[in-house]
Amino acid sequence: YDEGVISALKRVYGDFYRDFLEAITKPGSRLYLRVNTLKTSVGEIIDRLRGRGIDVYVDEELGEAIYIPIQGPYKVELHDKKVVVDKYAAESVYLGSHLYVPGVVKCSSDIEKGDEVSIVSENGVVVGEGIAMLSCSEMLERKKGLAVKTIRSVYRAPPIRELPEYREGLIYPQSLPAMYVSRVVDPKPGEIIVDMCAAPGGKTGHMVELSRGKAYIFAFDHSRKRIEEMKNTLDRLGYRQLVEIWRADSRYLHIDFPWIKADKILIDPPCSALGVRPKIYDRKSYSDIVSASRYQIQFLKSASIIVKIGGIIVYSTCTVTVEENEDVIERFINENRCFDVIDTNISRGSRGVFGDNRELYTRFHPHIHDTTGYFIAKIKRKC
Ligand code: SAM
Repeated sequence: YDEGVISALKRVYGDFYRDFLEAITKPGSRLYLRVNTLKTSVGEIIDRLRGRGIDVYVDEELGEAIYIPIQGPYKVELHDKKVVVDKYAAESVYLGSHLYVPGVVKCSSDIEKGDEVSIVSENGVVVGEGIAMLSCSEMLERKKGLAVKTIRSVYRAPPIRELPEYREGLIYPQSLPAMYVSRVVDPKPGEIIVDMCAAPGGKTGHMVELSRGKAYIFAFDHSRKRIEEMKNTLDRLGYRQLVEIWRADSRYLHIDFPWIKADKILIDPPCSALGVRPKIYDRKSYSDIVSASRYQIQFLKSASIIVKIGGIIVYSTCTVTVEENEDVIERFINENRCFDVIDTNISRGSRGVFGDNRELYTRFHPHIHDTTGYFIAKIKRKC
């Protein structure tokens, strides 16, 4: 990170910013899954997963949340033969996933099928070891397929996406703070809910489940690719027909969809994602934070026009900077007298770190709460 990012982190954590930086290089100790309560029950899923030998528990507070302890860290060997992988693949192998061809950046030219190899990130971190399933030239030529079967990784978690329970749409991997966001929205049957930055649909799906499929949910996103991903997810979960999906630039919903008047709006905008973990490495500069912040406030402006009087706006990010969190909300509140920040009423996490309304926000800190870093604010329109 550049000096500006470090200053932004110091603004939140003071000298403890180093603890934060260290925590985000590791996964939390729990891998959380949300149970699709429209299709199954927590008890049934726990029985099925334990039946497969998976160590799984129910969260202490959120009834729909279950978690699997993540094992590690383990020591992994550096072999002569190496496969260098991109950031996404490195972070997956780090947690025990197998390596697939699209993640391969380069490899030792003498690798043959069956060789023991090390899997290394582009910045030189050894994330795992395994058996090559292809020669190096095949890894580079092919478009898809298994490149290395991982046999040891720094951390270990079950391959959720390969489980029948995942394919049947009974579970959805989601961080604990992300689950609290939809709980704060608290969608009720019959309400009109707008999810302004919805893809890939994690929180949208949770809101369908919380309202027992009886809220009118409009899910907007401007990315065609991510909307396709959201449609596939909602199909898998079995309730795509219960969500109205639109591709749009949500900063202009009040102009492009003037007929929508919402009871509740969720804004989960793009952010610097500093709270996402584990990170093998990250390249962010302070200008990314400033431009994210300028972008984020635009969603609030449109939301403020389409939310009904008495309605609610929930704003969340998976980042920790004041610039993208408290600053955005406090600036909006100061310029819009018809809106108040109200308490998120979440019993977990801690309160905000800046601004007049700091006691009403919720933050999750990776090094303190053992979760993804998150910010959640709740705003009410009063006139
Ligand atoms: N809420 C999602 C979930 O829980 O799965 C994650 C949302 S992600 C943090 C932010 C999303 O905002 C991305 O899918 C991105 O495509 C979308 N986005 C960015 N700019 C947008 C815009 N102007 N209008 C609508 N969506 C936008």
